Amino acid sequence: MTTWLVTGGAGFIGGNFVLDAVRRGVRIVNLDALTYAGNRDTLAPLDGDPTHVFVEGDIGDAALVERLLREHGPDAVINFAAESHVDRSIDGPAAFVQTNVVGTLALLEKTRDYWRSLGPVERDAFRFLHVSTDEVYGSLGETGKFTEATPYAPNSPYSASKAASDHLVRAFHHTYGLPVLTTNCSNNYGPYQFPEKLIPLIIARALAGEPLPVYGDGRNVRDWLFVGDHCTAIRRVLQSGRVGETYNVGGNAERENIEVVRVICALLDERRPLADGRARESLISFVADRPGHDRRYAIDAGKIERELGWTPTVTFEQGIAQTVDWYLDNQSWVARVLDGSYRLERIGQA
Ligand code: NAD
Repeated sequence: MTTWLVTGGAGFIGGNFVLDAVRRGVRIVNLDALTYAGNRDTLAPLDGDPTHVFVEGDIGDAALVERLLREHGPDAVINFAAESHVDRSIDGPAAFVQTNVVGTLALLEKTRDYWRSLGPVERDAFRFLHVSTDEVYGSLGETGKFTEATPYAPNSPYSASKAASDHLVRAFHHTYGLPVLTTNCSNNYGPYQFPEKLIPLIIARALAGEPLPVYGDGRNVRDWLFVGDHCTAIRRVLQSGRVGETYNVGGNAERENIEVVRVICALLDERRPLADGRARESLISFVADRPGHDRRYAIDAGKIERELGWTPTVTFEQGIAQTVDWYLDNQSWVARVLDGSYRLERIGQA
């Protein structure tokens, strides 16, 4: 049975990835530090499943990583673990450097040693896949798209720390021959996203009839990708990507933030009208812009399409409707995040 060591698999994208991979018959060892962003509730469908081994721990804990690699003998390591929220990185950059840079370095070193200890066939087949972001490329003007050749120009402490980790991953290939792959993806949305990020935050507040904060003039542009399509792209790169390469992953769905907020308002007005009959758009409130806020990101995903045949399957309109419906159907998941109880009960620790 194929085994993957997944880090950060109690978070948003990692959680979606793990749920899907286990369903596909992959054995997952899931190493997650359960920071505020880690949520065991997301993994509840896997309780009692022997093909999912959850380990609470830090990617920077070299001894723990070494033990997990030795005991479980994974065929690949997939690194999702990170501090991921730009606003938090502005308030406190140190945690971002600690996990995203120092932690990734420890994971790389122990993975390199493990990989060297494998027999020739396993060593050849082994992969280290690093999940990264398009934010490492900085900000675009009105036109143009990021390609894999775009120079790195990170603007926030978050993107700077991710850029540093991408460089370390690259260096471990060039220096030690570790078979690495890196994906740089645009903004994800979908089930199980922590309600501090734009889409789940707006859904939660709009449902409650609270003000909907939008940064600046709301005209910052992001490219949006449904999380399930991102997970498919990661599996495709893992299986067929060329070692040492990076692949941009995007949804071909550029939207201004204000458009995203309006779409959510309209969907919720249709599904759960406010008791007083107000349109939710009236709740929009423009707030002081995020310092250093990048204006526009857009991804050219031509390489992964040409080389690996991956394209997104879910349009933004389909994905956002599915996401709104998921949050409506899973209000207890959100409620337990908002009242903090998701952190108090840690059940089923393997
Ligand atoms: P998230 O914040 O939802 O989840 C991160 C997970 O990592 C959490 O479960 C947390 O507990 C865990 N973690 C944090 N520090 C850790 C440590 N030191 N050791 C072990 N686990 C630790 O993040 P996400 O949105 O799921 O993003 C996952 C990855 O994808 C990140 O590397 C992020 O940079 C990248 N990415 C995210 C997006 C996006 O739109 N969310 C887009 C592109 C790339």
